[in-house]
Amino acid sequence: MSRIKKGIFSKKTNSRGQSIFIVLVVIYGFLIFRICDITLFKGEEYSSIVESQSTDKISLNSGRGVIYDKNNIPLTDTVKQKILLVPREILSGDYENITLIKKATDLSDEEIFKAVQNQISSEIVQIEINELNEVMKEELLEKEIIVETKTLRYSDDNLLTHTIGYLKKSDGTPQSGIEKSMNDILDDNNSEYISVFRASTNSKGLDILDGSIETIRDNEEDEHLRLTIDSKIQNIVEDIVDNEENPTSVIVSDVESGEILAMSSRPNYNQNNIADYINSDNRELENRTVSVTYPPGSVFKIVVLYSALYNDIIDEDTYTYNCTGSCKVGKGDEVLKCHKEDGHGKQTIEEAFANSCNTAFLDIAIKTGKERILESILDLNLDEIVDIGLDEEKSSNIPDDISIRNLAIGQADIEFTPLQINQLTQLIANNGTYKPLSLYDSIIDNNKNIIKTFNSTKEEEIISPYIITKIKEIMKSVSKIGTAKDLDDLNGGCGVKTGTAQSSLDGVSISHGWITGFYPSENAKYAITILVEGTKQESKSATPIFKSICNQLYQFKNK
Ligand SMILES: [Zn+2]
Repeated sequence: MSRIKKGIFSKKTNSRGQSIFIVLVVIYGFLIFRICDITLFKGEEYSSIVESQSTDKISLNSGRGVIYDKNNIPLTDTVKQKILLVPREILSGDYENITLIKKATDLSDEEIFKAVQNQISSEIVQIEINELNEVMKEELLEKEIIVETKTLRYSDDNLLTHTIGYLKKSDGTPQSGIEKSMNDILDDNNSEYISVFRASTNSKGLDILDGSIETIRDNEEDEHLRLTIDSKIQNIVEDIVDNEENPTSVIVSDVESGEILAMSSRPNYNQNNIADYINSDNRELENRTVSVTYPPGSVFKIVVLYSALYNDIIDEDTYTYNCTGSCKVGKGDEVLKCHKEDGHGKQTIEEAFANSCNTAFLDIAIKTGKERILESILDLNLDEIVDIGLDEEKSSNIPDDISIRNLAIGQADIEFTPLQINQLTQLIANNGTYKPLSLYDSIIDNNKNIIKTFNSTKEEEIISPYIITKIKEIMKSVSKIGTAKDLDDLNGGCGVKTGTAQSSLDGVSISHGWITGFYPSENAKYAITILVEGTKQESKSATPIFKSICNQLYQFKNK
């Protein structure tokens, strides 16, 4: 068989090269046919789509204001992509133009064909290119093929993903984060596009008027958004949490101003590929820092201590409690265990707080009473959202019927967002001066001049400075002798409270690790809150992340 076959071929052609040539001609022929097929035979279908317009508009960016950090470093619109803009009609029937494009770029026939096929209703086909022979630019232009640069809204490794949010790929509508919450400011700005004037419709589709293709940069009175975020600190935080397998939430704010300097949620997602996450069990799209509430665990002992001191229930100089490892709750059989099985022994209030002793705090909570503790939650503004201007921000859950046992140790259905816990930490670190946390700094123009400065919807407030300063001092001992003594050698010292929040996942009991505190210990600059979600595999302490962040902040400040 093979001999006969060979014989037939060898009569007509003598070289292998020629048969490859035939195969290629067939492939190219098919591609050209497909392009012609789309342009000629389906021409009517799509020309009616654009008939109503006299100009075609091809966007070269998202047409939205840029989001900047506090130092005017752009957090969006950082990626440039070279594109070719090719009038569809010159691709049909004429292989010469396709050859020209291939010669000038790194494109293959398949890529050109795919672009034509995917943009069925566009007169001008956009094709992304990575390489361009600059010398051929003029030659391309003669054929009305334009080389342009497009600005992409997001890079594949964007900072601040969850806070920025994302746009729907198909129509650019904002779906979450700043994109959605500040859409009125960002939308319809900074517009860059190619305008193509349509001369007439003919059987081939559309005639493009010679020389009518122009690039328009309509950015006279643009508005952009400046955040309080410091991208250098944001980078520090994200580099650290990217090394943690468990889901995390981190927020770093400026103690004195209340400005949010960094905020992250993990697992992360890619704003350019949202479809990959829509049905995921890992909840990548959720901003854990603002829109998820967690039981505070022992972090809530800050509120219990505040309530007891504020209401003069205990005297911090004379109060002592002897922990034996467990104690009875009320008159029934219920027993509360301390996390140290053989007990912490006799402790002062400072030691009980540093040890996070459950039995001591049940004693303090019972003496203070549920009503007073619930009132303290209101005093400390923990019953409402922080209101940093993100639509998805959630508020706390504080059940009226919570038992005194659960209130003492911050368990069961009482829940706060990491953002709310950070606001509490800011208040303590700032000696009782409550500065509402903020994310937005100002609206700025193209020259970075301020058009409008944002003011918080909440008032600055002074809350029990004497009591709060005492709590601040007690928090310092947690890192020296208590549950976070791993932080003992931290440069500059710190004050913190740790917590473990019991939860369950598909019936498996897990626990989340909390730490919230200020750094450094004197003239505190940063309020830092971290939550590490427990998984079925592992529950973790949040203290190592706190330590890494403080170490990096120390180096950053002393550079
Ligand atoms: Zn104890």
